[in-house]
Amino acid sequence: MTTRWNPSAVSEELLNLTLRLGEPDLDLAILAEGNTSELLDDDLIAVKASGAYMSTATPESFVTASTSELVAMIEDPSTTQAQLTAALDAGTQEGERRRGSIETLIHVSVRAFTPARFVAHTHPTAVISLLASVHAEEAFAQPAYSDEAVVIGAPLYVPYAPPGIELGRAFHTRLRHHMETTGSVPALVLLGNHGIVAISDTAAGCEAISLMAVKAARVRLGAHAAGGVVGLDPEHVADYWSREDFAERRGTISGLPQ
Ligand SMILES: [Zn+2]
Repeated sequence: MTTRWNPSAVSEELLNLTLRLGEPDLDLAILAEGNTSELLDDDLIAVKASGAYMSTATPESFVTASTSELVAMIEDPSTTQAQLTAALDAGTQEGERRRGSIETLIHVSVRAFTPARFVAHTHPTAVISLLASVHAEEAFAQPAYSDEAVVIGAPLYVPYAPPGIELGRAFHTRLRHHMETTGSVPALVLLGNHGIVAISDTAAGCEAISLMAVKAARVRLGAHAAGGVVGLDPEHVADYWSREDFAERRGTISGLPQ
């Protein structure tokens, strides 16, 4: 069985990250929006179940899923949405249907390229405002201020695809290309007309990346209202990548090789 219901596998860290990102004041997710995951071993992740609210999550709100089996489904061009839905089904447990989020493929795709412990996907209003605008693709191409560059680095943009097998394939293809061209996984992935994905080896890193993405979006929305965004000089940004202290700060936040 690809997906199982096993609340005892859900760590306090994953639960606390989920509750924190689900706090209404942060405006990252409402209702059953968003999902988080933790890598449990070489293959298994704990990932939020479909229909569960981040703001009131409990260990029962998660399922465990095999990354290798789901990545194989992404990479098989014949996989249908119905097959994916069946693979995410952990059956009826304690009177409730338990199924992995439709966006589980985002979480398993990341782990196909790096053993990042935490992945957090949310739908922040400020970021979607830009990702649903005429500026979507280029909105975050250039950092607007230095802490953004340090915490987020260069984000990956994935154009809109319907959640499910189609988004899984689009995300996987873009992430693979990013890995092949840059040699590393981005800390932040922007999903066109949809939301963000924060990738870190720590729960605190996922939170920091998510909050900085929201701030970066608010700065841009303000700058657009003031006549337009002027990004940082590419010369300065290039320096950020080579500066040891900045690389060290990025490494601390993401916990991943820079
Ligand atoms: Zn989503």
